[in-house]
Amino acid sequence: MSEEKLRFQAEVGKVLDIVVNSLYSNKEIFLRELISNASDACDKLRYLSLTNPGLLPGGSGFGIEISVDKKKRSVTVADNGIGMSHDELIENLGTIARSGTTQFLESLTGDEKEDAALIGQFGVGFYASFAVAKKVDVVSRKAGEDQAWRWSSEGGGEFLIEEAGRDTPGTSVTVHLAKGESEFLEEERIRHIVKSYADHIAIPINFVTKDLESQINTGSALWTRPKGDITVEQYQEFYHHVGHVFDDPWLTLHTRAEGKIEYTALLFVPSSRPFDLMHPDRRHRVKLYVKRVYITDECEDLMPSYLRFVRGIVDSEDLPLNVSREMLQHNVLVTKIRGALVKKIFAELKKKAGKAPEEYAVFWDNFGAVLKEGLYEDHTAHEPILELARFRSTNGTELVSLADYVARMPEGQDEIYYISGDDPAALAASPQIEGFRSRGVEVLLLSDPIDEFWVPAVGKYDDKPLKSVTSGGIDLTKFEKADSEAASDADKADDAEMAKLVLNFKQTLGEDVKDVRVSDRLTDSAVCLVAADGDMDLHLERMLRQQGHMNVPSATRILELNPGHPLIRKLTGLVDQPADSEILDETARLLLDQAKILEGDGIPDPAAFSRRLNLVLERGLTG
Ligand code: ADP
Ligand code: MG
Repeated sequence: MSEEKLRFQAEVGKVLDIVVNSLYSNKEIFLRELISNASDACDKLRYLSLTNPGLLPGGSGFGIEISVDKKKRSVTVADNGIGMSHDELIENLGTIARSGTTQFLESLTGDEKEDAALIGQFGVGFYASFAVAKKVDVVSRKAGEDQAWRWSSEGGGEFLIEEAGRDTPGTSVTVHLAKGESEFLEEERIRHIVKSYADHIAIPINFVTKDLESQINTGSALWTRPKGDITVEQYQEFYHHVGHVFDDPWLTLHTRAEGKIEYTALLFVPSSRPFDLMHPDRRHRVKLYVKRVYITDECEDLMPSYLRFVRGIVDSEDLPLNVSREMLQHNVLVTKIRGALVKKIFAELKKKAGKAPEEYAVFWDNFGAVLKEGLYEDHTAHEPILELARFRSTNGTELVSLADYVARMPEGQDEIYYISGDDPAALAASPQIEGFRSRGVEVLLLSDPIDEFWVPAVGKYDDKPLKSVTSGGIDLTKFEKADSEAASDADKADDAEMAKLVLNFKQTLGEDVKDVRVSDRLTDSAVCLVAADGDMDLHLERMLRQQGHMNVPSATRILELNPGHPLIRKLTGLVDQPADSEILDETARLLLDQAKILEGDGIPDPAAFSRRLNLVLERGLTG
């Protein structure tokens, strides 16, 4: 068979360009990436050989060999792992299948520095070789197959595939160094790079020359070593390898359980948010090992989905080595390990929240919305997550916990008030919270979509019901207003006048409102909408409709009038004037539309709205 010339998928071309540009001061990374892939390949073959021992490499077992050819100016990283078939070479090295790639590419700014930071989160992988190479050759033979293939590319838009010879299964990646990259031909330089980036790799990495072979790395799995022997850098490097990411871990949790169930876990919480965190297919990234043998990274039950940002490994002593991936579903041992790990993670997060609130705020901004899914999905997690949850509130710019909130509640308050919407800034300016502010009653500002779901599922905290300020039936008169606010109460329209105005509004608005009421929750705005008790919250209704749930019934709302607002006071004076009845009606309709706009809702009849607005403006201007 002759050679095939193929084109990279368009995304690869882009990623390649970015990688090469962003690695210029960090080129040695390529070696780490090649070693990381070689180690993954050995792990995969070791797993396959559990059921097919014939696939095990002979000799001294799995290994990675690095060699240089000074004459040809090339570095080769060779492994005896699983190898790649003809089609896999094309698929794995010619396309990018990872979820989130498109999002990643869209988020790039074109600014080299910013993009370099982004690529750090994405992971560069195999393509890093092109940062130092003028050409890369990959010769690979898949375990269990006889034919080997060569993949080669100069990094432009194309790569070649042709038949090749290789005595044993595995992969050799040969990087033909570009001008100026001779440092990577020096043994000392290579040893140094391997030591600093790949010492945690559990497979022996040897430097091979014509007459000598010497091991560079320690060669034992990092998580099996005593904690005291592991440096922060080694943990970091392990995290980069296992997580396929570049950022630093925000939290490292290395724990060993002995007793009824025995396992070691080395888990990390990233310091930045992965691109695909909210992708529907996103699963956790915790790899399962059994007695140091890699089994799978698809053991779904190992972590709940609300901890899907966690990366790392779990190494079990109790599961059988020949455990199949199917056997891992609903496995009692796995469930127990998960339970224990979730507890440990919660405990670590709680510690951080107490000790380093500012660092914790970073975590919360990244992953709080995901963690809160646990409040909806897993009732056994309510208590710890409610403790860990942080909120924006009307109290200031700092994040608050529910415990903070409760501690600050004024006398007589027995509910926890919140308002939900899309944008915290808009929420803080909502008319519905004016009366709470003026009375010093704190309101939580909930702006994650998941909030609409967990709040009804959880219902209360510390026996205090969570209550939306946009629902009717909140009596604010029991809280005292600040003095300055109380003074302005003197300017309120009197009750009898307001009663007449309310009646008038009801007649005008008819079916378009559920009720009209005098409000005690407004100070600055003239009107606002609230939901009747038992009706769906305003924001939830809008959100469901935006998500395409067209059959969500649109509940009519209660319109509340602010008796202290000059406009409302003025209107009370018009009620008994037959000559003014038209302008009063039109104003009532305008105010209802205004309340809808404040909610972020559309107005049903924009043409009528404009006509009314003009009418009222005209009246105002002409006398
Ligand atoms: P990642 O390692 O994050 O998946 P890479 O760009 O490093 O991304 O590698 C892409 C894919 O190519 C790997 O997922 C793997 O399937 C394949 N691959 C790369 N190097 C090897 C190797 N030495 N042996 C077998 N497969 C490999
Ligand atoms: Mg890789």
